[in-house]
Amino acid sequence: AVPLVVAISTAISAKNGLLIRNRTAFENSRKITTIIFDKTGTLTQGSHQVARIVSFNPAFPEKELLRLAAGVEQNSEHYISQGILIRVKAEGISIPTAEGFNYLPGKGLEGTVEGKSVKVVGPNYIKEFSIQVPESDAEEEVETVVYVLIDGTVAGFISLKDQIRPESAEAIEILKRNGIKNLLLTGDNDRVAKSVSDTLKMDGFLANVLPHQKQEKIKELQDKGEFVAMTGDGVNDAPALAQADVGIAVGSGTDVAAETADIILVNSNPKDIASLILFGKATYRKMI
Ligand code: ADP
Ligand code: MG
Repeated sequence: AVPLVVAISTAISAKNGLLIRNRTAFENSRKITTIIFDKTGTLTQGSHQVARIVSFNPAFPEKELLRLAAGVEQNSEHYISQGILIRVKAEGISIPTAEGFNYLPGKGLEGTVEGKSVKVVGPNYIKEFSIQVPESDAEEEVETVVYVLIDGTVAGFISLKDQIRPESAEAIEILKRNGIKNLLLTGDNDRVAKSVSDTLKMDGFLANVLPHQKQEKIKELQDKGEFVAMTGDGVNDAPALAQADVGIAVGSGTDVAAETADIILVNSNPKDIASLILFGKATYRKMI
């Protein structure tokens, strides 16, 4: 049987934007010593807007880069894809179909569009395969950058910007005040990660992290004796959510993440996580 106090707490949590999928998750929430935040969708809005489209090849001007990129991006639900597709629609461009679509976890997408090989990938992919990129300021601005590769060469890049959620700073402050460490873990680049971490005065950040490395990082902290919570949204994050002592899926994320998580953050509001932990501590104090 579910102890009454837990049943009541669970009902109250639902009202506060949390769905608790198992009882131990609520009991465990008060033991959390470190929270790992996935950047997008929890601390940030997750509504990426295309900031710049830069072409390196006159054969593929900006609109053409966007059109070909959209061909592969229409197959994905990633925030980057959504941002690119919104821009394409706003410009009234009709999206071509892609064949042989392939998703490269934490790196990007590839497919064949109108007979051309099109890849839309992050800086980590470019580094991994030592791909030549023309000189530009792509690595300077605080922007999420994806390169558009056409038949193997970099034809240009598309940069996107997201916004920090208004509630995030207060959520981090509450956690810190209660002695809970917080870390940002993201597949995005250093500049974007540092900007979010600095703005929110977080304890630290790790950027360019591939999906399987997120899981390893959690394990590493657990081995050091930390009781770790992790927030995440994507299909990508399922292994990390499963590894965490308390896995928290954000409401707007994918079904796979939600199925793996112990807790679902219905309104994607990071302050609800802070409330949950404090509430968990208070509830169990009452029981003793
Ligand atoms: P996070 O959730 O931490 O932002 P992801 O693993 O989802 O990390 O993505 C990491 C990086 O992989 C992105 O910043 C981008 O460079 C690349 N990437 C992921 N998905 C896509 C996509 N749909 N299109 C282009 N690039 C992508
Ligand atoms: Mg993600």
